[in-house]
Amino acid sequence: MRILTAALMTETNTFSPMPTGWAAFEEFGIQRGREGLTPGVVTAPMLLWEELARAEGHEVVHSVATFAQPAGPTVRAVYEALRDEILRDAAEQGPFDAVLLLLHGAMVADGYDDCEGDLIGRLRDIVGPSVAIGAELDLHCHVSPAMARGADLLIAFKEYPHTDGLDRARELYRLVVDTAAGEVRPVLGLHDCGMVGLYFTQTPSMRAFVDGMSGLERQPNVLSVSLAHGFPWGDVPDNSAKVLVYTDGDAPAAAAHARRLGADFWALRDRVAFRGLGIDEALDRVASAPPGLVVLADTADNTGGGAPGDSTYVLARLLERGMGGACLGPLWDPVAVGFCHEAGVGGELDLRVGGKACSASGQPLDLRIKVRGLSQDLRTPSYSAEIVSLGAAAWIEIVGADIHVVLCARRMQGFSPMVFTELGLDIGALRIAVVKSYNHFYAAFAPISAEILHIAGPGAIMGDMAAIPFQKRSADYWPRVREPASI
Ligand SMILES: [Zn+2]
Repeated sequence: MRILTAALMTETNTFSPMPTGWAAFEEFGIQRGREGLTPGVVTAPMLLWEELARAEGHEVVHSVATFAQPAGPTVRAVYEALRDEILRDAAEQGPFDAVLLLLHGAMVADGYDDCEGDLIGRLRDIVGPSVAIGAELDLHCHVSPAMARGADLLIAFKEYPHTDGLDRARELYRLVVDTAAGEVRPVLGLHDCGMVGLYFTQTPSMRAFVDGMSGLERQPNVLSVSLAHGFPWGDVPDNSAKVLVYTDGDAPAAAAHARRLGADFWALRDRVAFRGLGIDEALDRVASAPPGLVVLADTADNTGGGAPGDSTYVLARLLERGMGGACLGPLWDPVAVGFCHEAGVGGELDLRVGGKACSASGQPLDLRIKVRGLSQDLRTPSYSAEIVSLGAAAWIEIVGADIHVVLCARRMQGFSPMVFTELGLDIGALRIAVVKSYNHFYAAFAPISAEILHIAGPGAIMGDMAAIPFQKRSADYWPRVREPASI
């Protein structure tokens, strides 16, 4: 059997003014073919597929593997060039029996609201109807009719934080290869829940729901079950939570399972949908929190959701309220990082911090700071334990405030306490750690936290799902309406 693999991933916040172009993909690397393929967040599933395929005597051809940090829509020519490279490999290096893709599912480019549906549809046209096509998706995906029609299998992560990428990759491999061999015939049941929101799978209700999906997969004839959560800040018609159930050739059963699971999820909506605290509300709660470190997630400025990562709203309130014993990071500010490196450790200077990228960044803060630590390349594990780079970084202390900020030159969310500790900051001695992340920080910070609170402050990622100013996505969704007419 001959298998083609490719990875093209970014999550598009269509409300973000920051364009996603060549530099955004090159920052993480655009890898091509086997020689260029080095282990990383995006390539790990491709390398796993290769290992599994080799063990069964199959041949694997790797096409493009690339990822861009979430931001605004991808530049049209950049998307088309990356897409066409994958299509060219499919046409020129074939014939193939199967295609395995790692896609985000919420990628938007200028002129393309549904990049994944476009790519899968064009691949289908090239390889023909008999080749098995499967895609692994981030659960923050918009499942479109074109994706569902073009692929034999779509499998989304089950966990948020996304700790299960390799487990899902392994399942996709098995099912796609078995489909190509004619041993199974996946048919999809798809149910649209009519919901826009974020759902953390560490909460008891979501945990039980996810465990229920895994339980259903153990039933005879059920091949795969996914909940595509949707990505709230993508203004595309298909933005909605959807249940996908694949059975082996039994369309009515797939549809019935999807409908029942969708109804179960709908019934949980008030319990599982994320609602954050206002900045002051969260800061007020620090006083009554148990002794130890209180972690505050600055969800509105999560680079992983397309925000700039340089907003100053929370830092400004910490300063205004005189709340010391605090650290905050990572705050994206390459200009300030450069000045800190120039000054050196121990240097004291007036520094303009943050508030530079866009209107959602807030105002820059002019601070007297001392440089406490520097790194040429700050590296931390991500949610999947793969290492990510925040580029050059600086730990600064705001003079007289006992507030510590980690500045970085590369946009990246705070996945791990190592964002602070790698620079020498002892966060165990502090009361407050503000982390720019939505939920991917959770697994690594929970063991060292007395309490974790999510702030939904101002910023590029609007916390009020009912008020997201959609133009292309209809207003017929929960929580904007109590009972969407379309479900
Ligand atoms: Zn995601």
